[in-house]
Amino acid sequence: MQEARLWKPLKNGSVQCRLCNHYCAIKPGERGKCGVRENNDGTLYSLNYGKIAAINLDPVEKKPLYHFQPGTRTFSFATMGCNLRCTFCQNWSLSQSPSESRRIDGRDATPEQLVEEAVRVKAASISYTYSEPTIFFELMQDTAKLARKEGLKNIMVSNGFMSRECLDELAPDIDAINVDLKCFTEEFYHEISGAHLKPVLENLKYIKHTLGWWLEVTTLLIPGKNDSPEELDELTNFLAKEIGPDTPWHISRFHPDYKMNNVPVTGSDSLTAAYRMGREKGLKYVYIGNMPGLDMQHTICPGCGKEVINRSGFTSTRPSVTKGQCDFCGETIHGIEMG
Ligand code: SF4
Repeated sequence: MQEARLWKPLKNGSVQCRLCNHYCAIKPGERGKCGVRENNDGTLYSLNYGKIAAINLDPVEKKPLYHFQPGTRTFSFATMGCNLRCTFCQNWSLSQSPSESRRIDGRDATPEQLVEEAVRVKAASISYTYSEPTIFFELMQDTAKLARKEGLKNIMVSNGFMSRECLDELAPDIDAINVDLKCFTEEFYHEISGAHLKPVLENLKYIKHTLGWWLEVTTLLIPGKNDSPEELDELTNFLAKEIGPDTPWHISRFHPDYKMNNVPVTGSDSLTAAYRMGREKGLKYVYIGNMPGLDMQHTICPGCGKEVINRSGFTSTRPSVTKGQCDFCGETIHGIEMG
């Protein structure tokens, strides 16, 4: 068992975990909401340190990150656990087992072994992904520091509900992040995810304007839950005005899963309406993912309107970008190592 970081003692042997915005107060012998941090005799421990429950070499486009080292592979892993309770979770056996059944499975691996493997398979980066990386913070931080020394980039794929302290601790070692902005109402965040909207919005601004990590945002569009024109109007306004028009926004199609089996898949009309709204608000890079046939996953130059990166599935092909500029008109194509 690894002693946790980012916690403080309270009265009577209790502790407060300061890793995410739940700030759980945990009594002796108990665990936090995520189910992977336990108070053992007045000390907080990370129970999932080095317990790798999912591991793959993925295209970076799968995270999704479309403007960060396109065409490269990222060594991706996760432990079990999550600090949210999304009823539509598409990775629920990985994310919810520790809190639902106290099960924390995984193959033992040290940060050294993970980085060695990433180098061996010639990955350009390591991604902390699949579940919520905030809850395997210690493992992520130790691995990211080693990866940095080997010249690898570090990527988080996150729900954005971590604490400010957590972000500050990770600031020197993370290069890019994709954050799920699940909706734009407090009711949805609270009832369907067990979290809150405001900390996520504050973190998005902090990541973009203070930390300077490369940021892309994803919204899973769920019919009847978060796809009203009014809500999407507010969400796209926020992205365009407070985060910035050069931030890529990925719109993703819902399919029934976990505890939300009574809601249909997202229709193409709803996806394209959200796409148009994002573009009308001035967002330069809007994408529709996991919807073959819509042809809205390519990068269009904001200057001349020509296609500069073509994508098929998770593969980027025929890039017409050189040193971050459109080959046709010279306009900036925002991102990191964009050809
Ligand atoms: S990571 Fe979040 S949910 Fe887990 S114990 Fe800490 S504050 Fe609670």
